[in-house]
Amino acid sequence: MHLLLMGPPGAGKGTQAAELVKEFSIPHISTGDMFRAAIKEGTEMGKQAKAFIDAGNLVPDEVTIGIVRERLAKDDCKQGFILDGFPRTVAQADALKGILDELGLELTRVLNISVPSEDLIARAVGRRICKKCGATYHVEFNPPKAEGTCDECGGELYQRADDTPETMGNRLQKYEESTKPLIDYYKKAGLYTEIDGRQAIGKVTKDLIASLKG
Ligand code: ADP
Ligand code: AMP
Repeated sequence: MHLLLMGPPGAGKGTQAAELVKEFSIPHISTGDMFRAAIKEGTEMGKQAKAFIDAGNLVPDEVTIGIVRERLAKDDCKQGFILDGFPRTVAQADALKGILDELGLELTRVLNISVPSEDLIARAVGRRICKKCGATYHVEFNPPKAEGTCDECGGELYQRADDTPETMGNRLQKYEESTKPLIDYYKKAGLYTEIDGRQAIGKVTKDLIASLKG
């Protein structure tokens, strides 16, 4: 199952990808996670990407396409994957098509988690992530049992530097300009399914799985 998980920043892509990994045992490929790992490791690519991410801008297409091309060529993607946060531009979607053609793979489905923009700033600002295992929480909507500590592994939770109201404003604008057109792109390709992301986390998961199994 080769899936794309789409949606605006804060829609719940990472949260739902973690559930789909459990259900379908396929790798979760998040370009945002890959960039954050590169920044932490201090690689050249991480240094290039950091300024764009901190400002809430998109990392240039050639950098982003390059890391996805490398990742999708790995053996574990043959059986399936969940791409999260890529593509974010029409150029990236065209490049993805080319990469998959070269690998002899096809997208199974594009799932768009739809959430109105007025809910997204509160979701991002309250987001907390485990430093150790990457599990995602929300201070109000999905709090950990003990404040600041991951339920899964006991790791310390942190807040992303780009999860501020100001940066989110720019990220949402970039989404409207560059990423939203992909809805029509994948509708035309006959791959598009929309899921109501305003519902509780568990219900969104149920709808996603039902739609993939249906
Ligand atoms: P994305 O990967 O799309 O940016 P996340 O999965 O990180 O989004 O979710 C953003 C924030 O919203 C997190 O703090 C998460 O716990 C919370 N969240 C995710 N899904 C829901 C939901 N259905 N209802 C309320 N909060 C949610
Ligand atoms: P995310 O974790 O998906 O919210 O992504 C965090 C940030 O990484 C985004 O705001 C962008 O700056 C950058 N990023 C992630 N994926 C992409 C992409 N496909 N294209 C360009 N920039 C990206």
